[in-house]
Amino acid sequence: MSANNSIPGMGGGTNLLKLPVIGDFLRWRHSRMFLQSITLVIALAMILHGLFGPDLAPRNLSTLFTWVHYRGILVLILLVAGNFFCMACPFMLPRELARRFTKPVRNWPRWLRNKWLSIGLFVAILFAYEYFDLWGSPWWTAWLIIGYFSAALLVDAFFKKASFCKYVCPIGQFNFISSTVSPFEVKVADPDMCLTCETKDCIKGTRDPNDHDNVIQRGCELALFQPRKTGNMDCTFCMDCVHACPHDNVAVATKVPGSELWEKTRRSGIGRFTNRKDLSVLALIFTFGALLNAFGMVSPVYAFQNWLAGVLHTTSELPVLATLFFLMLVVEPVVLLAAAAFGTSKWTATHEKLLPVVMRYSYALVPFGFGLWLAHYSFHLFTGIWTFVPVVQSVLADLGIPLLGEPMWRLSGMQPGLVYPLELGFLSLGLLGSLLVTYKISFRDYKARPWQAFIPWAILCVVLFCAALWLLNQPMEMRGTFLGG
Ligand code: SF4
Ligand code: SF4
Repeated sequence: MSANNSIPGMGGGTNLLKLPVIGDFLRWRHSRMFLQSITLVIALAMILHGLFGPDLAPRNLSTLFTWVHYRGILVLILLVAGNFFCMACPFMLPRELARRFTKPVRNWPRWLRNKWLSIGLFVAILFAYEYFDLWGSPWWTAWLIIGYFSAALLVDAFFKKASFCKYVCPIGQFNFISSTVSPFEVKVADPDMCLTCETKDCIKGTRDPNDHDNVIQRGCELALFQPRKTGNMDCTFCMDCVHACPHDNVAVATKVPGSELWEKTRRSGIGRFTNRKDLSVLALIFTFGALLNAFGMVSPVYAFQNWLAGVLHTTSELPVLATLFFLMLVVEPVVLLAAAAFGTSKWTATHEKLLPVVMRYSYALVPFGFGLWLAHYSFHLFTGIWTFVPVVQSVLADLGIPLLGEPMWRLSGMQPGLVYPLELGFLSLGLLGSLLVTYKISFRDYKARPWQAFIPWAILCVVLFCAALWLLNQPMEMRGTFLGG
């Protein structure tokens, strides 16, 4: 790596913006719109095919791209780079166009400036996915995408800044929390430069010197002030701060994946992690939601649901699914977290209340949760990676553009057995990450008895890992792919 790519005064980490090609592209003022235009065209094709194409999920672009390709590619990009999906998010493009004609005047309500709404929507999407069998319904999936476009447009038509991204979007929250374990972050290159900076354009935006009301380059709409920004939480990688800084002082730089999960600093636009109940709950829903979503995929879930239906004396799916969600997203976490927090509180002889202990350690579970999402989604991606080829061929043939002859319906992907070692690797990486964050938090907050604080949470991490391992070894439902046909 050339010395030119590194960041002065920051331990020599790599700055993506200084790399040839990638750096030139990211610095290009229209890079975001370019990526958004591509994803917008794909999203529109998915909507049209979902509404008017075949009902069979593996042969429809909306279900195939959403539930097989998009999710897998998303988590892999988060693993190797960062939150580049938010950068390329197609839902923001109609909003950008609308803002050329009308400027919102309202601020997002103060009581909603947190993650509670988006957490509720995240759970609602997980629930709808199971209840409406979204992976098998092109029509519903198309409407989900339409709903997303409408919600983003509506919220940002009324409210200033990036209210939808920061406070509403469940995909955004998934990306924000996942990107805490990504290897890149947008950050200041030289902190000393910021000390003498008078304009602070990275947050305020750049104004036309002749017309002060005219903002010619936005500052951070997510309220992240570069000199006090820590990590990737709430950052959409939009590059506005990069373009706004007059001193070329913003980098897309390497970081230690997961390190922001144990940092106790006060973060710009976020505050302290340890004081944010909503962020703690987001981290927990992210982790236990990974278990729930994977559980919904394996055969034993049907036996369990049948048993639940018998206990509840019902044949309706709604109460059974609601009970399953309550057990896995409320009862299970409460019992396990309370047990671990009790152990830490007692063995360290601090006799703290359990809630603050849980809030502190909730972030330690994120790497494990991400490892499980990664294992799950990459399984679908790799076992169905080529399935898009015949579907695109058949769409083009319907449009009178036959490509490479008859659609190659036999194309699929890797055999599940070959993907298994990869899943195991992702899961193990997640466990190691969680153990490392647990260790760091314990040595940060319990200097007198760090190991006594560490052990209960390490046991919890291993218990969750064993549960996930058991899930990976169950017969999987090959939802939305030809293997499941
Ligand atoms: S990042 Fe740039 S604009 Fe922001 S405070 Fe630092 S030097 Fe100023
Ligand atoms: S402007 Fe804000 S959200 Fe966009 S890349 Fe910079 S810090 Fe992240």
